[in-house]
Amino acid sequence: MTALAGWVRANAPISVERYMAAAAQAYYAARDPFGRGGDFITAPEVSQMFGELIGAWMADVWRRAGGPSRVHVAELGPGRGTLMADLLGAARALPAFADAIDVHFVETSPALRAIQAKRVPAAHWHASIDGIPDDAPLLLVANEFFDALPVRQEVSVEGAWRQRMVDVRAGELVFAPEGGTIRESAPEGADVAATIARRLTRQGGAALIIDYGYWGPREGDTLQAVSAHKPVNPLAAPGEADLSAHVDFAALAHAATGAGARAAPMRSQGAFLTALGIDHRRDRLTRGLDAEAAHAIASAVRRLTAPQAMGELFKVLALYSPDWPEPAGFRR
Ligand code: SAH
Repeated sequence: MTALAGWVRANAPISVERYMAAAAQAYYAARDPFGRGGDFITAPEVSQMFGELIGAWMADVWRRAGGPSRVHVAELGPGRGTLMADLLGAARALPAFADAIDVHFVETSPALRAIQAKRVPAAHWHASIDGIPDDAPLLLVANEFFDALPVRQEVSVEGAWRQRMVDVRAGELVFAPEGGTIRESAPEGADVAATIARRLTRQGGAALIIDYGYWGPREGDTLQAVSAHKPVNPLAAPGEADLSAHVDFAALAHAATGAGARAAPMRSQGAFLTALGIDHRRDRLTRGLDAEAAHAIASAVRRLTAPQAMGELFKVLALYSPDWPEPAGFRR
C-alpha cells in the first residue's frame, strides 16, 4: 500500500476534491511522468513546433503592445521545461523580445524542478503565481496544468446534491454516496484564473490556457487516472497514477472577466495552431529533409491538430489585459 493509500484510509471519508489534491501532489513530487517510458505524452513533447508557435504568439502580442523593455514570461506546471526551451528558441527571431524576457516557472514538484533547471537554467521558480514579480507586463502559458487541479464533485441523491466522497468499504476505496447524476466544479482552477486576470489587469500582458476540456456548464464525471498510457481506476493506487479532470473553460473565463481581464472566444487547439501557421512551419521545416524525417514532422502536426487526435479535445483560452491588443489566433 502506498503512503497516500494509508493516509486516505485513516482519514476516510474525504472529499473527491481533497483526494485529488493529495494524489496529484504525491504523484508529481517524485517522478518524471512524461514521454514514451512514462505515463502520458503532452503537446510540447510531441513537437518543438508547439512551443515555437506559442513563442511567436507571445512575440507578436508583445510587439503590438509597444514592445515593453522588460516582460515576465511565466509558465504554470512546466513539466520537463520543453515548451519554454522551444518558446525561447523561437523568441530569438525577435532579439528585442528575447532580451526583454525574464523566465518564471510555477512548479511544486522538486523532481520536475530539477529537470526544468537543466533545460532552462536562467528560470526563476515559484510555488505559486503570487511569487511572480509585478513590475513589468506578464506573458503566461499553462499547458495541461488546470486539468491537474482538484475538482469538487457533487452527486444527486433523491433530488438533492451531496458532495461525492472517497470512503472505505470492505477494505477497498470506493466513491460514496452512490447516486445518479454527477456535476463538477473546480474552485482552485477558478481562483488561479482570477489571480492571472488580476495580474494582467494590473501589469499588462496576455495568458494562454491550453487543456482538454469543454465550454460548460455540463453534467458528468470526468475524473480520470492514467498509468503507462492506459486508463486505470482512479482509486486503485492513490498517488501512483496521473489523476486529472476535464477543464470547464467557461468557468475559467467567467472568473477571469469577473476579475477585470478580457477573454477571447475559446478555440480548439487544431484551429488555433492552424491560425498561427503550423502548416507553413511544417513545410519550412521539412524542406530538404528525407522522406522519413519529413513524415515524422507531418505526423506530429496531425497529432496536434487532427480532430480525432488532440485537435478537438484540447481547447485554447486567451486572457488579456484591457490595455493590451487582442492576441492572434482567435479571429474566425
Ligand atoms: N506543461 C507540461 C506539464 C503538464 S503536467 C507539459 O505540457 O508537458 C502538470 C504540471 O503541473 C507538472 O509540472 C506538475 O508538477 C505541475 N503541477 C501540478 N499541480 C500543481 C500545482 N498545484 N502547483 C504547481 N504546479 C503543479
